[in-house]
Amino acid sequence: MEDRQLNLINKVAESLVAAKHVVALTGAGISVESGIPPFRGKGGLWEKFDPMEVAHINSFMKNPEKVWRLLISEMKDLLVSAKPNPAHLGLARLEELGILKTVITQNIDGLHQMAGNRDVVEFHGSFAWLQCLDCGCREQTVDIDTSQMPPKCSCGGIYRPECVFFGEMIPPKDLDRSQIAASTCDLMLVVGCSAVVQPAAFMPVIAKQSGATVIEINPEPTPLTGTTSTLLVQGKAGKIMKKITAQVERIIADKQN
Ligand code: NAD
Repeated sequence: MEDRQLNLINKVAESLVAAKHVVALTGAGISVESGIPPFRGKGGLWEKFDPMEVAHINSFMKNPEKVWRLLISEMKDLLVSAKPNPAHLGLARLEELGILKTVITQNIDGLHQMAGNRDVVEFHGSFAWLQCLDCGCREQTVDIDTSQMPPKCSCGGIYRPECVFFGEMIPPKDLDRSQIAASTCDLMLVVGCSAVVQPAAFMPVIAKQSGATVIEINPEPTPLTGTTSTLLVQGKAGKIMKKITAQVERIIADKQN
């Protein structure tokens, strides 16, 4: 198993060095080792909540206090202390080496930017900012007093996070940028992504249809495995990305010597 994984890691590192335009698609799994649970899967928030009850726009509009109490305040507490893990840092290093061009992330945690990636498409928006439903003014989430639920703007309007709830459209500019990135890459790394949340899960399909190789890093197989992706490196994103990045650096150093 260990040997097989090492072979796969070498193969992925060689493919990254040989590629001309690499794009990464990341999901909640990449931030698990930063202490942020995913929604789906083992230990996911869906074991505690019904998604449609807490993460659908209709639920928020019907009962913002409930959604703030159950989901948003919990996410806020987790995000305030979360730091990038070796998977985020590995992707930032790949960008620094000129290999990785764009990260499309489904995450709202801002950890890719914190790690140093500069071209990040936040497909599902961001949790860093809140917007007043009445006057539209914006506040940073960390500055909001959550002792009163739901938190309100000075105009009396309720704040919502600037992330995309279930039932909402992906902002067209983010969808466009993602589709362009997916259709122009020659290698897509899909890290910690269940590939069931649409339309994000369609980006690897676009990449494959445009001729790219799709490689997954995930402890579990996904609907992409063996159909859209040619390789699944099975394991935790941080552990695997750290090894892949080190191997990429080794290959580049060998080439220079
Ligand atoms: P997802 O597509 O983001 O999938 C989670 C995936 O992570 C699963 O396939 C799981 O096997 C994998 N995973 C679990 N631990 C891992 C690890 N250590 N390393 C690599 N992969 C691991 O789906 P979701 O969790 O249902 O989330 C749905 C949406 O909710 C996301 O797209 C995102 O918008 C939002 N969300 C964001 C965050 C965040 O910002 N960190 C956290 C939870 C949910």
